[in-house]
Amino acid sequence: MTHRVLIVGLGMAGMASAIALKQKGWTPIIVEKSAERRTGGYFLGLHAAGKDAAEKLGILDKIHGRTPTQSQNWDILDDGSRIRVGGFADQVTQPTVLLRGDIEAGLWKGVEDQIEVRFGTRPTSIENVSDGVIVKLKHEVDGQVTESEEKFDLVVGADGLRSSVREMVFGPHEYFMHSLGAMICAYQLKDEITNFPQHDGIMICEENRALWVFPLADHTPTALFTYRTDDIDAQFKDDPVATLRKVFAGMDQMNIISEALGDLEQSKDYLFDSVHTVKMKKWSKGRVVLVGDAAWCLTLYSGMGATAGIKGGYELACALEKNDDIEAALKDWEKGMRPFINKQRLLVRLKSQFFVPSNPVASMLRRIVLRVGGRKLFNKNKAA
Ligand SMILES: Cc1cc2nc3c(=O)[nH]c(=O)nc-3n(C[C@H](O)[C@H](O)[C@H](O)COP(=O)(O)OP(=O)(O)OC[C@H]3O[C@@H](n4cnc5c(N)ncnc54)[C@H](O)[C@@H]3O)c2cc1C
Repeated sequence: MTHRVLIVGLGMAGMASAIALKQKGWTPIIVEKSAERRTGGYFLGLHAAGKDAAEKLGILDKIHGRTPTQSQNWDILDDGSRIRVGGFADQVTQPTVLLRGDIEAGLWKGVEDQIEVRFGTRPTSIENVSDGVIVKLKHEVDGQVTESEEKFDLVVGADGLRSSVREMVFGPHEYFMHSLGAMICAYQLKDEITNFPQHDGIMICEENRALWVFPLADHTPTALFTYRTDDIDAQFKDDPVATLRKVFAGMDQMNIISEALGDLEQSKDYLFDSVHTVKMKKWSKGRVVLVGDAAWCLTLYSGMGATAGIKGGYELACALEKNDDIEAALKDWEKGMRPFINKQRLLVRLKSQFFVPSNPVASMLRRIVLRVGGRKLFNKNKAA
């Protein structure tokens, strides 16, 4: 009889874990609280370690990349002039640029019709017992609620930043979630920003507030507002557009902020949230293990959350294949994965200064680095 594993969450970490565990002979069952699979989402960069894991999962060629080839990136100055700078896709690591939904659609090709997925379903209690995990599940569709209890050999909590598995098994959110004192709003623009071609990127950054417009090859650009604040709770009192209008008042060179907020007003699919990292001493307890943002959320500033989630899911299955003792395998997996996560974590605060500088020195250094990057690119293009 094969081992049964319950995977909570149909995001990247959950799907990667499910595909990999199926490859290794397990029987995965995914539960997803939403009634259907989400699509769309914001701009992402997928890095080498994520692509490598996706290849091993057999889905790399199913992920639609959107890295723009003729892109130019502009830093908009206070007086409305612009300077060419290096952009997100110009990093030496050359990430593939795409939408969150592109990665999830690729992973879905390895899940659909091959792995059982129960939508509208969430765990309500999780109990480690000597030879498995007993889980109570609540299934809710069109107001009809059914409840069941099942036993699994392993539970994988891949249910994101505010993981309910973590809360039920490891402790309350405040033990593990650490605020970076920042907010984000990410969404797809309806059209390119006036006076900028679709494949051009735009940054307007001041101390503590910034707007990034990320270009994509065959799609309208996406917008990312991000700002720093000491009062996170206050940011949720009004609707996001009104809040952003207040925070970004007096910063509207070339009407870019107004135009982006105009699109947000009409958008139904946006993410407005506070930025938190997740830090845990252990990612597993008994036969319950956390993967992805639930375990280590690195935040958008790291640009490595998707990569880490896919890599983590793949490597978890490899560790379980190598060791029949499930709890020992979870420890082996964590030992192998920790150095990668710790390395990314070290860079989060530094990288956040590129997205939204917190002081005048950081602001100046950021501009210098981006301009040098832009000049190098310009010279490279001239030479080519
Ligand atoms: C604006 C932005 C930009 C980013 N840019 C990058 C980037 O450039 N590169 C990069 O690598 N990463 C980036 N990231 C991070 C990356 O998107 C995340 O790290 C990654 O998507 C996390 O995947 P996950 O599967 O761990 O969690 P999630 O994507 O949060 O998925 C969790 C899933 O679990 C489901 N769920 C939640 N609770 C329950 C429950 N109780 N029961 C059942 N199901 C549940 C949810 O509905 C969801 O489907 C960015 C993030 C943001 C917000």
